[in-house]
Amino acid sequence: QPVVLGPQEHGINPALVSNNAIRVTQSLQEAGFKAFLVGGAVRDLLLGVKPKDFDIATNATPEEVKRLFRRAFIIGRRFQIVHVMFGQDLLEVTTFRGAAVEAAPKDEHGRVLRDNTFGEQHEDALRRDFTINAMYYDPATQMVLDYHGGMADIRSRTLRMIGVPEERYREDPVRMLRVVRFAAKLGFEIDPSAQAPIPVMAPLINNVPAARVFDEMLKLLMSGQAMACLERLRSEGLHHGLLPLLDVVMEQPLGERFVRLALDNTDLRIRQGKPVSPGFLFASLLWHQVLEKWRAYQAAGEPSIPALHQAADDVLNGQTEKLALQRRIATDMRDIWAMQPRFERRTGKSPYKLLEHPRLRAGYDFLLLRCESGELDAELGTWWTAFMEADGPGREELLARKP
Ligand code: ATP
Ligand code: MG
Repeated sequence: QPVVLGPQEHGINPALVSNNAIRVTQSLQEAGFKAFLVGGAVRDLLLGVKPKDFDIATNATPEEVKRLFRRAFIIGRRFQIVHVMFGQDLLEVTTFRGAAVEAAPKDEHGRVLRDNTFGEQHEDALRRDFTINAMYYDPATQMVLDYHGGMADIRSRTLRMIGVPEERYREDPVRMLRVVRFAAKLGFEIDPSAQAPIPVMAPLINNVPAARVFDEMLKLLMSGQAMACLERLRSEGLHHGLLPLLDVVMEQPLGERFVRLALDNTDLRIRQGKPVSPGFLFASLLWHQVLEKWRAYQAAGEPSIPALHQAADDVLNGQTEKLALQRRIATDMRDIWAMQPRFERRTGKSPYKLLEHPRLRAGYDFLLLRCESGELDAELGTWWTAFMEADGPGREELLARKP
């Protein structure tokens, strides 16, 4: 039986709950179903933070949920959920999962392949990963249901796995990435029993479909604490299968500085609520690898531009296997990299042509990072800033007085 906490005990500010989330729980409840906010949203509410998205748990089946809303879509295979849309707002509704994970289909390493058996709320709570992610909040009654001592762990800032950590990591190795992300993002401690198995079980990540690992990596990098997350991944020995060469990059002072600047930049944008492009992010993470290969191809006699393209190909091919970089993202990365030597040509029509490049802004931001990291002379960045801001005659003048 769960511990039931009233407003006095949990202290949630109801004003932080989105109206659309309330609309969904209300509609479900009016149709006779149970419905609660769950997971990250409740965790954030308890920490006094406005949740960025809301997950809802219910005893209605996906089909029953879908019927209640005008724009609702059942998605996912491994784990079916319903996406309910209101304008731009997306709410994820999941049906309570059953406890019988033993019977679920698994791969040869014990990873659960599908999990669509439904059950009671207390069983659903048992299937969640961490105690702080297994609390349910009913906006109508303002009650929190706490099944696994999550409230105490929120107070002591502890990430504690529900059940036996080794078993839970085996069922789903992505939980190792999740615990690192939550620890870095929330500044929580990982309970020793959840932490100890990670270095040993880390290789299990290699059996997870690359697309899912990629999604989780993206969440990690977009958490607003990207640098802290990466450092934690490294210290837990989890980065090997993910960004294998990042290790090498981080050991060179220039590479380290570049990655750090890029991620600090990303973290700042996220915290300011500005958009971040995954292409730019991954282009930054892998740049010093490209740079090294670019130099090697040039040293072997290849002209600069083809050498850069070969280096980009090598790096992208090496990563797609592990990370399933989507085509769109890989294209963005290639564009950003390929633009770089063009910034160094400051004669004739070249700079004007570059101004018309659809991805100029990203390429230019990337150039500034290279300058800031000490890889390039800062003068080049300053010159381009001036050139982009100048009018016609101003540009001619800049071209005439370039160093
Ligand atoms: P955030 O949205 O900030 O990334 P979250 O905790 O809401 O964090 P989601 O991926 O949105 O994470 O998942 C919602 C909830 O679903 C989690 O809080 C947790 O209870 C459950 N959950 C998600 N992924 C897993 C998993 N791999 N294993 C067990 N439970 C999970
Ligand atoms: Mg969530």
